[in-house]
Amino acid sequence: MSLSRRVMNLSRSATLAVTAKAKRLKAEGVDVSSFGAGEPDFDTPEFIKEAAIKAIRDGFTKYTPSTGAPALKQAIQKKFQEENHLEYSLDQIVVGNGAKHSLFNIIQVICEQGDEIIIPGPYWVSYPQMVLASEGVPITVKTGAETGYKLTPDLLQRNITDKTRAVIINSPSNPTGVVYSRAELTALAELAVDRGLYLISDEIYEQLVYDQVEHVSVASLSDKIFARTFTVNGVSKAYSMTGWRIGYLAGPQEEVEKISQLQDHSTSCPNSIAQMAALAALEAPKDSVRQMREEFLRRRDYMLKRISAMSSLTAIKPSGAFYVFCDISLTGLDSAAFATRLLEEARVAVIPGAGFGYDRFIRLSFASSLEQIAKGLDRLENWLKTR
Ligand code: PMP
Ligand code: GLU
Repeated sequence: MSLSRRVMNLSRSATLAVTAKAKRLKAEGVDVSSFGAGEPDFDTPEFIKEAAIKAIRDGFTKYTPSTGAPALKQAIQKKFQEENHLEYSLDQIVVGNGAKHSLFNIIQVICEQGDEIIIPGPYWVSYPQMVLASEGVPITVKTGAETGYKLTPDLLQRNITDKTRAVIINSPSNPTGVVYSRAELTALAELAVDRGLYLISDEIYEQLVYDQVEHVSVASLSDKIFARTFTVNGVSKAYSMTGWRIGYLAGPQEEVEKISQLQDHSTSCPNSIAQMAALAALEAPKDSVRQMREEFLRRRDYMLKRISAMSSLTAIKPSGAFYVFCDISLTGLDSAAFATRLLEEARVAVIPGAGFGYDRFIRLSFASSLEQIAKGLDRLENWLKTR
């Protein structure tokens, strides 16, 4: 079979695969404790659903402009101004079918065959694959405990070549939950811009930060940085709207115009009804977000406390998102063997770290009820003791 070079090196998403497998087993009646979920377990808030129903009743069921309905783009523009200190014009904003789609489009537009994109590890599973789909070369950079699992200017510097086009920053990070400080972002961004790179800032977990940690939008740090940065966000995580598929990007005008053209000829507009639901989400007070964040914080603390009592696991303390990335080196197993055995022998689903570039780690999501988390951790603890 001869297929295009662009797709030859792609693989399935480990996060989606494990989550789907756990859901399937549950549907078959198997009592699985799943730590796979990359989505909040809360229902989409009622007022958001109502906005979608109203959109249907009002006949808002036709194509919108392919970069998004003007009302939604205005709400995104206002959100950027008020929450992120970013002044984007409407034609610098494109609404897509999820942040994943927005990221994909950015990479398609800036990266061509052989171009390198720097991706600090541990990284979200889809970034290297998106670069491969653009025939680019993902340059994954290992970070460790000594830098708090963050990219540093020194590490960045060492990985820049004359082929480097961009660096991806994901803060708060999936899978580690680490959040970059203003000073850390400034140092990285200044170096990147001085070397003529783009910054791709994935801020999808922006609303989910704990311990008074501040989320900073890298594009807000200076005009020079703003001019080279793509900011990506969406409603999936903050409003528990993963299935609605609305994300958005903003960035430099010329590049965003190319993304608009790409979107014109690939997906057209995102679903009109979901756009109205996203508009309601963005315009509402943040009560539901705050409640969700408080609940996530309780779960994070509980999970960290339980894991610290398991002698063969070491957790990275997340300041954001809803994952705990755990070092499993002391078990002597690689991440796939650990995850497979844990699922088969104890009915607990976790995501192997290999997909995030760290084969001695697993990712546990705390996007499920405290009761479910407690049950799953009991099983994990017993399994570790008896295996
Ligand atoms: N970035 C990161 C780091 C994520 O974890 C996700 C989760 N799917 C996304 C982007 C994409 O989110 P969505 O496409 O649902 O907006
Ligand atoms: N981003 C989530 C995760 O990492 C959802 C699945 C995906 O899109 O990768 O689990």
